Amino acid sequence: MESLQQRDVNWQDGKVFSLVYQAGEEAYDLIKEAYSMFFSENGLNPTAFPSLRKFETEVVRMALSLLNGDGETVGNMTSGGTESILMAVKTARDWARGKYPEIIFPEMVLPASAHPAFDKAGAYFDVQVMRVPVNELYIPEIETIEKAINKNTILLVGSAPSYPHGMMDPIREIAKLALKNGILCHVDSCVGGFMLPFVRELGYEVPHFDFTVPGVTSISADLHKYGYAAKPASLILYRNKDIRRFQMHATTDWSGGIYASPTMTGSRPGGAIAAAWSVINFLGKEGYVDIADKVMKATKRLMVGVKSIEGLEIIGNPVMSIFAITSQELDIFEIGDEMSERGWHLDRQQYPNSLHISVNFAHTEIVDNFLKDLSLSVGRVKTPNLRTVMNRVLINFIGFITRLLPKKWISKIISLISPLITSNSPSPSSRSAAMYGMMGSLPNEGDLKEIVLDLIESFTEIQE
Ligand SMILES: *Cc1c(COP(=O)(O)O)cnc(C)c1O
Repeated sequence: MESLQQRDVNWQDGKVFSLVYQAGEEAYDLIKEAYSMFFSENGLNPTAFPSLRKFETEVVRMALSLLNGDGETVGNMTSGGTESILMAVKTARDWARGKYPEIIFPEMVLPASAHPAFDKAGAYFDVQVMRVPVNELYIPEIETIEKAINKNTILLVGSAPSYPHGMMDPIREIAKLALKNGILCHVDSCVGGFMLPFVRELGYEVPHFDFTVPGVTSISADLHKYGYAAKPASLILYRNKDIRRFQMHATTDWSGGIYASPTMTGSRPGGAIAAAWSVINFLGKEGYVDIADKVMKATKRLMVGVKSIEGLEIIGNPVMSIFAITSQELDIFEIGDEMSERGWHLDRQQYPNSLHISVNFAHTEIVDNFLKDLSLSVGRVKTPNLRTVMNRVLINFIGFITRLLPKKWISKIISLISPLITSNSPSPSSRSAAMYGMMGSLPNEGDLKEIVLDLIESFTEIQE
């Protein structure tokens, strides 16, 4: 296992963005100990494990105070942002079934930038997803949201901030619309919930997005992101118990006895609950503010550095430590590939093509190295090289054959060709420019979905 781990991305040296959040060695050791101390315990039954019950209620209370809850606000821990969002959508659906029984096909309205977990929730719970476009600042116009509301709308969603570009949606206006229409409003603060309050404390301008905003009925906030807790841990918080009631489940006529569960999962990870409690108590508000300060300073330096490289731009006006790098004249994915060659792990984004950066404590020491490598990478991409030419040839070839061949062949061919593109490179993501280029040349989106599903299917197959 140790030798296999050697081949994974090395997040310890701050070269990975968005997958791992690290608050330093001391916190790391503590979390590990708390996790292993409670890894066998099960949060499903709080009467058997009053310890976990204490941890969870205290973590929830701490988050509620951070997000300006009051005596009425409540919440639960979940296994990650996706589960929190699934819960918010399920709750809204069941709330609306009681309040608006005439709605047969409920809908929710969300900005184009909102997380795919809402699509998942919509698919799982039969709530139609109505995405509205974002403007040139990558936030939705409030009029567009208003226009998308109809008699079937039960829920409005805003992100604080959005994952792709770190932009703050107009939460106050969205929540006002929800109030006006007598519907619910969820704020997805998965990535910002444990950062924005501290960023505001530091004196940066942060618009209100939490329970101080009238009309906000639920908030998701991930502990395993800027809460620096162990995975999986997130929170789903509600304005009051009456709304949260629709989240919970009870089976009373089962031969196994009365079974009740607050969230989606049955058994719940004691280790993650304990680890979250330990890190919150260890860092305390001061610790989080201190980390946020270092992270924000690193972010500002990174952003200034990126902007100073000719050809690169930052999208919109990011509010905290998340931003996206794009380029008008250069292929940003080729720059991403060059960065991969240098050991950096950056997510590729689209509309427009960009590279995603979420700065956390692990990155406070790498700013100069990152900027140096980025500048080198841009230089490489500016001078024509063999790889660029090869990529273009491949993309044109695929674009040509996909127009001639029957649909079912396409994904077969792509899967045959993709090893050619990914081989001979130290990192599997280092030929992403070619991959994305190929995908862009596919005749329709359905093909792309099939290819992606083929790909995740292949991840479940044993590899030699
Ligand atoms: C990370 C994230 C999610 C999903 O959280 P997971 O923990 O990955 O399930 C949802 N929304 C936003 C804004 C996020 O950043």
